[in-house]
This record gives sequence, structure tokens and C-alpha cells, in this order.
Amino acid sequence: MTCVIGKTGRVRIDLHCHSTASDGTDSPADLVAAAAAAGLGALAITDHDTTAGWAEAAAALPPGLRLVRGAELTCVAEDGRGGTCTIHLLAYLFDPQAQAVVDEYARTRAERRTRLRTMAGRMAADGYPVDPDALLADLPPDASAGRPHLAQALVRAGVVESVTEAFTKLLHGRNGYYVPSRKTPVRDAIAMVRAAGGVTVLAHGFAHRRGPVITAEVLVDLVGGGLDGVEIDHPDHDPDARARLRAIAAEHDLIVTGSSDYHGTNKTVRLGAETTDPGMLAAIVDRATGADLLVGA
Ligand SMILES: [Zn+2]
Ligand SMILES: [Zn+2]
Repeated sequence: MTCVIGKTGRVRIDLHCHSTASDGTDSPADLVAAAAAAGLGALAITDHDTTAGWAEAAAALPPGLRLVRGAELTCVAEDGRGGTCTIHLLAYLFDPQAQAVVDEYARTRAERRTRLRTMAGRMAADGYPVDPDALLADLPPDASAGRPHLAQALVRAGVVESVTEAFTKLLHGRNGYYVPSRKTPVRDAIAMVRAAGGVTVLAHGFAHRRGPVITAEVLVDLVGGGLDGVEIDHPDHDPDARARLRAIAAEHDLIVTGSSDYHGTNKTVRLGAETTDPGMLAAIVDRATGADLLVGA
């Protein structure tokens, strides 16, 4: 794959962003327009467990903006303390037509829809004005269905004032409406992405404020399993988390990234609030063999 990063290297790069293909509020076309307006030189579209936004984002790409096609895969890992925890794996520049990827996405999409229908059904049975069938019918065919869609329906119905309030009051994991998902073991996901020619980066790996995280030992073990890099500069990482990740990355020669994890108006973080060094994007591009998947000027 040809490396398209310029020699001047001062381009600002955000490698973790969500669109309406998952739980962001910008359409893929609006997302790339917003990235250009924010002065970014490269943007990765990384919706949860889907590549549904890739085509629209690529078609709408403004001049001067490079698009890195990716996804954020929801996985489960040993936490290193005798239990398991959910972790997110950023996958870049993989071939979405690889059979392993096609099979996994089909399973995940179906499961997310079933979960959403079950959660909406439980709320409807308790008298909340949500219609599971209408909710599912309103989703785009390839949308990564999730609690934000139910939260938005609750806002539209006037039950709550905001998506945040819906999560805080009704859709959190300790509430009876919540349905847990069956997640992909992270080692399987890493192997799948590699088989499809892609590159994997652990998303917000030490973000304690988001919930339980893996130990450093488990992270090093994942590197042995083929993990290419770690996201270090993320809004949910405190200085201590960043320092510990930087030390591990230096010791194991990992790719390191920084990203906003932009979700439009579903979160307050701005595009480009955290950025990735151009040399690191070059390393991702050089390592990827999936296809000619980096598009743009
Ligand atoms: Zn995440
Ligand atoms: Zn994310």
C-alpha cells in the first residue's frame, strides 16, 4: 500500500470518530464535512461494529481530507484479576469483504437488533411509550442498533429530556431494562482483523472512569496475540493512564494513537480534541495489507 502522508507532517489526525452509522449524531457525510471544517487532515470513521458509514463518508470526502476506514469492535477480555471485562478494539484498513469479517458482522448486527427489541419491549410492557417494531423499522438497514437509539426514542416521546438522562435514569446496566450482549473474545477479533489485512489498536484501554479495565499484563499478552497499538491520548484517559500506556508502548514498540472519540452532540468532546502523530498513521498504513482503503488527497 502506498503511504500518502505528506513529508511536512503537520497534518492533524483524529483516528476515532462515530457517525449515525452507530451512535454518533453526524451522518457520515456531515462527519467528514465537520472534520474538514475543524481543520483536520485525516479522519478515521470508526463506528461500533459496523462499516456501514464508509461509502457515504468516502463519497462526501472534502478535498484535502484523508479518510481512514475503520471500526470499533466490542470485545470481551480476561481482565487479569480473575474476571472478564468489555474492551473496545479499533480496527483500521481491513478488507470488509473477508469472510471472517462478513460472518462476524452479521452475527453482531443481528444480536444488537435483538437486544434493542428486547429492551424496548420490556419498557413498553411497563407502559413507556416506545414501540419496538417501529424502533427497529426506523433504523437504517446497516445501522449498529444500540441503546442510544432507544434513548433518542424516549426523548422524542417526551419521557426524558436528553439522551444522557435516558441512560442515567432508565438504560444503565443495573436497570432491569438492560440486556447484556454476547461479545467477541478480543483475541478472536485481533485475529479476524489481521486475517482481513487490517491493523488493531486498543481503544481507551486504561480508561477507569468508563468501567473495569484490563491489567498491563493482559495488554502485553494481547500484543503477543497480534495487537498492533494502543490509543493513549483519549479524553477518558487521565495523566497516569497515559503515562503507563506510553511506557508499555515504548517497551513493546507499539503504534500509539490519539483521538477524540467524537460522537456529535451525544457527547461534548470536539473533533480533533486529541490527535495522532502523522508518523503513527504512516505506520498503520504501511502495516495494513487489506486493500486500497485509505482515500482522499
Ligand atoms: Zn469505545
Ligand atoms: Zn468510540
